[in-house]
Amino acid sequence: MKILLVEDDPALGKAIAERLRKEGFAVDLAVNGEDGSHLGASEIYDAAILDLGLPKQDGISVLREWRKLKRTLPVLVLTARDDWTSKVEGFKAGADDYLVKPVRIEELIMRLRALGRRSAGQVTTLIECGSLSFDSQLGAFSLDGLPLKLTALELRVLSCLILRKGVIVRREDLFERVYESEGGADSNSLEVIVGRLRRKIGAKRIETSRGLGYRLVCDDK
Ligand code: CA
Repeated sequence: MKILLVEDDPALGKAIAERLRKEGFAVDLAVNGEDGSHLGASEIYDAAILDLGLPKQDGISVLREWRKLKRTLPVLVLTARDDWTSKVEGFKAGADDYLVKPVRIEELIMRLRALGRRSAGQVTTLIECGSLSFDSQLGAFSLDGLPLKLTALELRVLSCLILRKGVIVRREDLFERVYESEGGADSNSLEVIVGRLRRKIGAKRIETSRGLGYRLVCDDK
């Protein structure tokens, strides 16, 4: 299991990370909310251990950010604050489990394994490109967090592009993949589909590279 540990207490962070590694976990340690938020949003983890009181950005807001980005990784919240209010806040923000400090590492490991088992089989397969995201397991796109309605052919084109986001996908490759089961589609129909996609997701997002192909642009500006 690959774990993201967000903990600003250096001694505790080190102790947990070392112990987890001994138990066979791979661990990335972030020592402030900002780094934790960034790592959890850009890397793939099987679970995260998140302290609530953190410098730069507090744990609750980190958690909210991940959930807003549709990061489904199980999150175990750690906190010294054992009052009911912070618990409720943590769960509302999308925590899966909760441990109050001082933490017994054995218990932490037990709970992590339980979270891992619960989430097994629902591997995060979200690919993001600016405000556009693609769940490759469900085969569904969303734009600004809202489901995007696409026809079967539009879905094929856009998924080809997002799987190679940022680079030019050659027309021939795209054509082959999109029409593999159709047979006999005329080459103009690819332009038609791209045109319809542009209307749905924004014209600037699909760049035409003359004579070559198309590129999905992830910069939202
Ligand atoms: Ca702390």
